[in-house]
Amino acid sequence: MKFADLHLHTLFSDGTFTPEELVERASKLGFAAIALTDHDTVEGCERAATACAAAKMEFIPGTELTAEHEDTEVHILAYLVDTQNKVLLKRIAEFQSVRQNRIREMVAAINKLGVPLKAEDVFALANCKSPGRPHVARAMVKAGLVANLDEAFERFLKKGRPAWVPKTKMSALEGVELIHQAGGLAVMAHPGLNRTDDIIPDLVNAGLDGIECFHTKHSTVMSERYLEIADKYHLLVTGGSDCHGFSKKAPLIGTVKLPYEHVEKLFAAKKSADEKHRAAAAK
Ligand code: AMP
Ligand code: ZN
Ligand code: FE
Ligand code: FE
Repeated sequence: MKFADLHLHTLFSDGTFTPEELVERASKLGFAAIALTDHDTVEGCERAATACAAAKMEFIPGTELTAEHEDTEVHILAYLVDTQNKVLLKRIAEFQSVRQNRIREMVAAINKLGVPLKAEDVFALANCKSPGRPHVARAMVKAGLVANLDEAFERFLKKGRPAWVPKTKMSALEGVELIHQAGGLAVMAHPGLNRTDDIIPDLVNAGLDGIECFHTKHSTVMSERYLEIADKYHLLVTGGSDCHGFSKKAPLIGTVKLPYEHVEKLFAAKKSADEKHRAAAAK
């Protein structure tokens, strides 16, 4: 039986594995395909693609966009995007600067509480264009300012805590459009985690292609519920572990195994979208 993991992070965002380390683990676990979905960046895709080709594994380039719709935060996974697409690259670069500025704001708020964290230390540890709260937490642990990552989130970084800084997000409708113009498929990430059920119809109207039914934090009941929703709206079904390497606890890769038939459907959807674009362009 062939299976895939379509939700993975590397150190190009807040994961800890290099693309090569991630591919090596995926290969050892017997995956037939993986997708890389770093937050607001596609930088790791080239290296992951090379490593996958060597390991004879199918690679799906992607990213995970942080978006919002009617005050609800929603993560949108992009699959099979053109990673050289200029419009996509320009827009995600803007959100990378939003992330970098937000790190400075979070550090300033932490400093205000008398905790001497340095922004440079967070940036040095993150060493990527798309830093996030896990990097702040890890830098705090490294500097001996908190005992562990949980303490950093509980005391400072969680929503409502003193160093929580809201992130400027793109609208979910723009996210779907941005992915489509880059030749990709747009999939709502972990709907059970963000409680985004109410906005599904709006996103479907905007052209949403799929929904992540299988995710580490989805219970069996949740997965079944989203499979029904996928069926109702004729959406693609995806799934993945959302592995961040050692960023949190043990690496999650291997905990979610998406049956390969869903990968085949993803490729088929991409093919038919490409054909539609070609037909429209020829008119
Ligand atoms: P950001 O994109 O900067 O808002 O950070 C989001 C990342 O932080 C995601 O990878 C989450 O899984 C992680 N995260 C959010 N809340 C917590 C928490 N309480 N403990 C550990 N990681 C968290
Ligand atoms: Zn993350
Ligand atoms: Fe997410
Ligand atoms: Fe993720």
